[in-house]
Amino acid sequence: MVDRNRLYRIDAIVMHRSDMGEADRLLTVLSRERGKLRLNAKGARKIKSRRAGHVELFMRSKMLVAKGRGDIDIVSQVETVEAYRGLREDLTRSTYAHYVVELIDAFAEEGSEQPEMFDLLAEGLGWIATTAMRNLPLTARFFELKLLTLAGFQPQVFRCADQGEALKEAAANEFYGWSPSSGGVLCPDHAPGRSDAGRLSIHALKVLRHALRTEYHTFTTLTIRDSVSGEVEQAMLRYIQYVLERKVKSVEFLNLLRRENAVI
Ligand SMILES: [Zn+2]
Repeated sequence: MVDRNRLYRIDAIVMHRSDMGEADRLLTVLSRERGKLRLNAKGARKIKSRRAGHVELFMRSKMLVAKGRGDIDIVSQVETVEAYRGLREDLTRSTYAHYVVELIDAFAEEGSEQPEMFDLLAEGLGWIATTAMRNLPLTARFFELKLLTLAGFQPQVFRCADQGEALKEAAANEFYGWSPSSGGVLCPDHAPGRSDAGRLSIHALKVLRHALRTEYHTFTTLTIRDSVSGEVEQAMLRYIQYVLERKVKSVEFLNLLRRENAVI
């Protein structure tokens, strides 16, 4: 008999899964109600299990979860909300899905309610599963910028990130800078002063601005040259790496403080 007080319901997306023991499956999910969780889907690998097929990678399901004795709670019932079939049928789409899940995994917190992040992941997986193949790179850029905004790290693309002044139009022989450590774009005057400032073209800057100003379906109607697409991708990659490095360091620092405090 299951103790009702030990049960809770979540809306969850499977981010990672691995086999555990003979028939169990260990899941890392992002839940709307409780952020990131690790769960045991007992018996999920048995063909006859009612849980089989509902806890595949990237699937969104309603789950009834029973509190376990240790860190890992147990999936008691599960019902698929959205299977995102397109992600399983195409390798490129599944690669993009892995990428956005890794990003979410890096930014999501354990044990706290994160409805916006959950909604973004649910929406993002839907875009990746169904959009035209040529839209996948822009979809990833849109997702990155939305996620950074939710996490409080939206890059500055409307003003100079160095002095905060309005960005002047770059002359034909001038370039904007892109400096993750300054927080975004730099005007041609301040760009040379920052050692980490790579060049950013006006075309790439416009794409970044457009992503932050418009809805997904409008943004992905953009047609951009491959060179600009590559430039935006590199700029975002450098920015995300910088943010995550700082984030990881700050988490380590906080843990260190906690340990030091515990000792004192
Ligand atoms: Zn400036």
